[in-house]
Amino acid sequence: MSPMSGVPGAGMVKGLAVTLGALTRPAHTQQYPDTQPELPPRSRGVIALLEENCTVCMLCARECPDWCIYIDSHKETVEVPGASRPRQRNQLDRFAIDFSLCMYCGICIEVCPFDALYWSPEFEYAEHDIRNLLHEKETLGEWVATVPPPPAHDPNGEPAKEEAAARKAADAA
Ligand code: SF4
Ligand code: SF4
Repeated sequence: MSPMSGVPGAGMVKGLAVTLGALTRPAHTQQYPDTQPELPPRSRGVIALLEENCTVCMLCARECPDWCIYIDSHKETVEVPGASRPRQRNQLDRFAIDFSLCMYCGICIEVCPFDALYWSPEFEYAEHDIRNLLHEKETLGEWVATVPPPPAHDPNGEPAKEEAAARKAADAA
């Protein structure tokens, strides 16, 4: 039992002391929107699409647990000089993500084998109508500019497999 617990008004004095302590501590309020918040580089804001890397493999759309990625494409025939026959290539027509359904799990980014999807810390995309949260590839492409650069390599880390193989080949030559 506290020695002051029997003194009348002790609880109030204690409470006032806590209030006074809180009043004199500097505030940590961020003055958004006048000042932009400093977000951690790995913040999950929105998903950006680097369209030229997308091969329309559909892996992201198939693995998305919310089925909120919509992809349309068509086949294009490409003549390759020297090749015996023309090649077929997928041309992306539509790539959209419905952010009203997305749960920001990041599975689509993880599974993309061609590094076409990235997290962007962009967060100012609120809409008055929930239907406007369906964003097409043009918007997803604009968000690529806000994707932070990857962290620098650890100078003491193991070299990448490709780098080690290239070095080995150069040494052998
Ligand atoms: S983050 Fe998850 S829920 Fe959102 S689009 Fe990607 S896979 Fe789907
Ligand atoms: S997984 Fe990557 S390459 Fe495949 S469709 Fe999705 S974004 Fe395009």
